[in-house]
Amino acid sequence: MELEEFLYYKSFRPGQRELALSVYEACKRGERLVVEAVSGFGKTAAVLAGSLAAAKEDDLKILYACRTKRQIWRVMEEVSRLQDRNQLAAVDLSSKYDYCLLMRKSHFSVSSEAFRWYCNFHVTNNLCSYFLNLTLLNNKVTNLAHQKSMRFFPHSTLLQKSEEIHACPYEVTRLALAGAKMVTTTYHYIFDETSRSLLFTSTQFEPSRTIVIFDEAHNLRDFIRGLFTVALSVTDLERAVNESKELYLESVQDALRTLKTRIQDFCSTSKSWFVDKESFLKELCRGHDKTWLANLSFELSTSAGVAWYSISTERKLPHSILMVGKFLTAFLSSLTEENLFLTSWENSLSIINVDPAKFFVEGTRKFKTTILLSATVSPSELFLRSIGLPSSTRLHRAEQDLALQITTLLDLGVTTKFKLRSYEMYSKISSRIVAVALMRPGGIGVFAPSYTVLEALSPLIEKGLGSESLVVESKKLTNQEASELMKSFKERKDSVLLAVQGGRFSEGEDFPGDLMNVSIVVGLSLPPPSPTLFAEYSTFAKSDRNNSYLLVSLLPALRKAFQSAGRHIRTPNKKGLVFLLDSRFADQRIMDLMPSWLKRNLIQKDFPLTEIEGIVRDFNLNRSTSQIDSNGIR
Ligand code: SF4
Repeated sequence: MELEEFLYYKSFRPGQRELALSVYEACKRGERLVVEAVSGFGKTAAVLAGSLAAAKEDDLKILYACRTKRQIWRVMEEVSRLQDRNQLAAVDLSSKYDYCLLMRKSHFSVSSEAFRWYCNFHVTNNLCSYFLNLTLLNNKVTNLAHQKSMRFFPHSTLLQKSEEIHACPYEVTRLALAGAKMVTTTYHYIFDETSRSLLFTSTQFEPSRTIVIFDEAHNLRDFIRGLFTVALSVTDLERAVNESKELYLESVQDALRTLKTRIQDFCSTSKSWFVDKESFLKELCRGHDKTWLANLSFELSTSAGVAWYSISTERKLPHSILMVGKFLTAFLSSLTEENLFLTSWENSLSIINVDPAKFFVEGTRKFKTTILLSATVSPSELFLRSIGLPSSTRLHRAEQDLALQITTLLDLGVTTKFKLRSYEMYSKISSRIVAVALMRPGGIGVFAPSYTVLEALSPLIEKGLGSESLVVESKKLTNQEASELMKSFKERKDSVLLAVQGGRFSEGEDFPGDLMNVSIVVGLSLPPPSPTLFAEYSTFAKSDRNNSYLLVSLLPALRKAFQSAGRHIRTPNKKGLVFLLDSRFADQRIMDLMPSWLKRNLIQKDFPLTEIEGIVRDFNLNRSTSQIDSNGIR
């Protein structure tokens, strides 16, 4: 076994070889392995070295699953360095929506939910020339697929090359998958039934011959919960009634009206968040039998005629009608599933999976090896329980944080605690952020606990700094917009990125050199009360009442905060500053859970602005401007 064969760099950094070896052994033995390594450790390179070495020896394939599309590209950049030296067929795969060239040329806007209809309609009616060309351009398409698998190129290049030969880039990618030894994709392709079939039915990925690696694995529970949650509000039903009226669908309109009245009455009289599914079914079907609801759900969720009519006349797709159909289908199939709860909350209903752990175990059971990576899994026994793994699961802790020189300032004078949120509090928080930024310590990442807090802070920070130095994340950014936003942050020296904790910029984004020297974590992203939370509390409390708050609320919030705090650390000798702007971080329970690198050099007090300026000034003086890591990479 030659681990170095799959390492691009001259040598392993301290701790990386041990990690690569652990991964190699887990892959050879077909074990599960959890890896905890601090940000900047270089775990992707080490994990790739170990897994690729084992895959080569035993002729296995690798599925590298990331939470976000941006993380896919970061992993593929590392893979592309290896492709310079090795014949490694590796393909990145994201959702079909991201590849569609036809939609990009059209003025007809299509939501990601309705995209399936759009593509089906054009392909079935021979209206997509990018699809029709696939057979005509067989050689060119095969060549492009081969090029894509042997040499990673950015998504925009694939689109451009596909446009040049006028072929659908998604189909090119599908073709490239067939010969790939490694696929980097999102969690969806592992857990979502429809997406999963692409990998495991139409390609040669056989789970028992596959190593699956989950990046940022602390997100898995949230992801699986989100995948199963289907919600429907009375407002959605009103919209669906209007859509059916506009499309002259009289019988559908009558049925939707009936549903709306019954669901509205039910929600307004419901006294508990928990809804007995059988009673709700009886209420919905009043005057009909269950088959009526099943037929209606089928008609709404497969309103092919309606959707096709909308596309052919370039009208908006009947999104709300399809949504009601999806909810009814999910409700009917939840009737026999005890892990799927029905809840009622403020005029809306939700179906929630209260046991994501069970689904994770079932969804990964058949893989030869499962590797879970994270910068923060402590306390590990709770992390393992949160995704249904036994406490005997092997854990590799990469202890390599000693070289980090991070100073942490915990500010006791501010908080984003819900009851204390006010204009004054936001002004206080933003004045601290502005004080840091005006001292120009290099790039700064400010991570808010929610979009609500981000939107409250944004104008105040902009007032103090001016809009030129501020880059702000917004909720519904497309991938393209996100890339442009990140590019503009990286191009502007000493600028401030305002993003949310747990979002696309706070995890899996690289900021080498001085692109980010300071992380400012504003508040704790504790989830607000909701039926999802109550349902999870009640389920988890059955087995461990004492830890239900910790597992369901506090730990996920802390993981997002600690990930954000470490966002500026990309090399093991990094000198950095972290501000924790919330007095709640001083709570002993949180201190006990804080990673050692973050609390080794920690000062806590209500900081006057002049003191903050002084600390950043000293930081600027002490910081080396040439942070060259042991691999020679800036
Ligand atoms: S086949 Fe490709 S280009 Fe054509 S509509 Fe579907 S995704 Fe778009």
